[in-house]
Amino acid sequence: MNAPRASQAPNAPEAADAPGAPGVPGALGVPEDRLLRALDAVTAERAEDAVLSVRGLTVRFRLRGGRTVDAVSDADFDLAAGECLALVGESGCGKSVLASALLGLLPGNAETSGTALLADPDGQGGTDLLAADEKTLARTVRGRRVGLVPQSPAAHLTPVRTVRSQLEETVRALTGTSRRARRATAEEAAGRTAFPADHLDRYPHELSGGLAQRAATALALIGDARLLLADEPTTGLDRDLVDRTVDELRRHADDGRALLLITHDLAAAERIADRVAVMYAGRIVEIAPAHRFFGPAGPRHPYARGLLDALPDRAFAPIPGMPPELTDLPGGCAFAPRCPRATDLCATRPEPAAGVACHHPEHPRA
Ligand code: SF4
Repeated sequence: MNAPRASQAPNAPEAADAPGAPGVPGALGVPEDRLLRALDAVTAERAEDAVLSVRGLTVRFRLRGGRTVDAVSDADFDLAAGECLALVGESGCGKSVLASALLGLLPGNAETSGTALLADPDGQGGTDLLAADEKTLARTVRGRRVGLVPQSPAAHLTPVRTVRSQLEETVRALTGTSRRARRATAEEAAGRTAFPADHLDRYPHELSGGLAQRAATALALIGDARLLLADEPTTGLDRDLVDRTVDELRRHADDGRALLLITHDLAAAERIADRVAVMYAGRIVEIAPAHRFFGPAGPRHPYARGLLDALPDRAFAPIPGMPPELTDLPGGCAFAPRCPRATDLCATRPEPAAGVACHHPEHPRA
C-alpha cells in the first residue's frame, strides 16, 4: 500500500515519479504499475513455500529511567527453501537483534511482538518462534531446525574443551551418529569450513579469530538445520576464505534449506544471495532480487544506493552523517537527515510498497 502523499516541497521529484502511477513507463520500458504488481505477486508466491515467514517483528529494549531502544520495527519477510536472503546494513541497525529474536536469545529487558512462523518439515503448520517457550526452543529448534553461525565465535565456543571435542559432542547430540563414526563426521564438518585438521585438538584460546570463526561455522553446519542464520560469518577471514565459507553456506541452502545471511560484506552478499534486504535504524527499507540490487538497475531506496556507492570499487563516496540513536528515532523517515531526496513529505513515515519504504524511491537505472 502506498503512503498517502501530501503536497511536495519545491525540490521534490515530480508526482509522476510516484511508484504505482498508472501507465508510467519505468526505466526498463515496462509501465511502473505493472512492474510493481509483478513484484507483489512474487512476494505472495514466496510466502506459500516459505521455510520462515516473518510479519511485524518488533523488538524494544526497556532501559532504566524509562527510555526505550527501538531495535527492530515491523520487519516483514519470507525465506523459501533453497533461498539465501542477505540482510545488510550498517553496524547497530538491528540485524543481529533480529536473528537473536528468532532464536529466543534476547536479554530479559527485551519486548518482542509480531510473528515468525517456522514451517514444519512436512509442510503441515509450523512453530511461531516468537511465541515458543524456552523448552521448545532449546529442545527442538536451536541447532536442530534453526542453526546459528554466531557473531562472536570465541564467546560461543566452550573455553575448556578442544574444538574436536565440541564438534564430536555436537554430532552426538544432533545426529545420533555412532561413536565410531563420530570422529570422521566431526572432521568432515571441520573440512567443510577449511578448519585445519592439525588444529582440532586445540582449545578456543589457542585459535586466531578467523579459526574460531571457522570452528563455529562447522558447529552450525552439523545439524543440517532447515534454516541457517549466519550472523557475520566471514569476520576475520581473508577474501579467499570469505569466498570459500559463503560458498559452503550457499551449498547448505542449495540442498533445499534456507539461509539468512546477516552481513556488512556486500561482496559476500553479491556472491551468494538470491535477494537482499536492507535495514536502516531498525527497519527493513528495501527488499530486492540480488541481480537487480547489484546489477545495472541498482537498488531503489536512497540509503541502499548510498551503501553501494560507498564501496571502494564503486563511487567510494561515504554516506554523509550518522544513523540516528535508536532511543530517539524521528516520527518520519529515519534516513531523512542524510537523504539527498528528502522533502517535507518525508516527515511522515513511508510504508513499504513493492519492496521499498520510501516516498521518493529511485527508478531502476536503465
Ligand atoms: S529515503 Fe526517506 S527521506 Fe529519503 S526520499 Fe525516501 S522517505 Fe524521503
